[in-house]
Formats: sequence, C-alpha cells, structure tokens
Amino acid sequence: MSGRGRTYPPLEKRLWAKVDKTPGHGPNGDCWVWTGYCVDNGYGQITRSRAQGGRCDYVHRVAFEIHYGVDLGRARKSGPLVLHHCDNRPCANPRHLFLGDDTANMQDMLSKGRKVSADQQGSANNQARLTEPEVRAIRADTRALQEIADDYAIAVSTACSIRTRKRWPHLR
Ligand SMILES: [Zn+2]
Repeated sequence: MSGRGRTYPPLEKRLWAKVDKTPGHGPNGDCWVWTGYCVDNGYGQITRSRAQGGRCDYVHRVAFEIHYGVDLGRARKSGPLVLHHCDNRPCANPRHLFLGDDTANMQDMLSKGRKVSADQQGSANNQARLTEPEVRAIRADTRALQEIADDYAIAVSTACSIRTRKRWPHLR
C-alpha cells in the first residue's frame, strides 16, 4: 500500500506497469502480456479509478480505450466488444485489438499485412497503415494535428486528410 487514503496512480500508469512488452510473446512474438490479475476466462482484469466508477474491467478493453482515446461505455455487455487479432487473451497490445463490430473490415486489414510495431513509430514509415478504430480515434481527437501525427507515426498531412475525410471517407 502506498500513499494514504484512496489515491491511486492513474489508470494508464497502473495498466502499463503490469504489461510485459518484451518480444517473444504470442503467435507473432509481439504480444504485450498482462502480468497482473486474470479472471478465470484468461482475460486480465483491472480496477478503474474512482472517477470512472471504480469498477473492474478487462485489461484489453482499458488498453484499447487508452490507446485509441475512446470511451467504450460503461456496460461491458452492451458496449462494443474488444477482440484480439492474436487470440492471446492476456495480450494488451492495442495493435492486436479491434472492435467486434468491425470484424470483417479488420480481418481484411490484417490480411493486407498491416504490421507496425510500436518501436517503428516515428521512423520513415509515414504510410498510413491505420486501423479503423485508429481512424475514428483520430477524427475524435481534439488535439493539434502535429500531436496526433506524432502519436500515430503518420504525417501531419495524413492526419489532416483523415480528419477532413479525404481519406477513409467510407468510415463513419
Ligand atoms: Zn497480442
């Protein structure tokens, strides 16, 4: 127990503190494995901050929300389902996660060979190889384009054209 009273470190910090990002985990060796508490079904579980109701939620859902800057809603059952590309339940690598209602589209993306590791961010890789949740998150992101571009390792012009719907116009 650290600190006094009920001050928790931020959710994001508690999440990543227990995620093992060393290579070699999962089917492609790039899974980020949750090392904290897992429920019986194999999914990791984390407690949200009091500001978020202090409820427990699946680690991969929380990782998805934090990474893509989205709020999947309170009710786990009625909210969108977050699924794993890697079929590795304790995995919290946001790039392995996708929303259930996008299954078909995401499978399509995956089959086209999108594979960008976090380590490659900021490299010359300016080709936008984004997932649909990322595109949605970029559109919903209120930060400056430069910041968003840095976050997703894309060009500012790409971030701009996503926001103005020149790119991915078909996406809601
Ligand atoms: Zn994974």
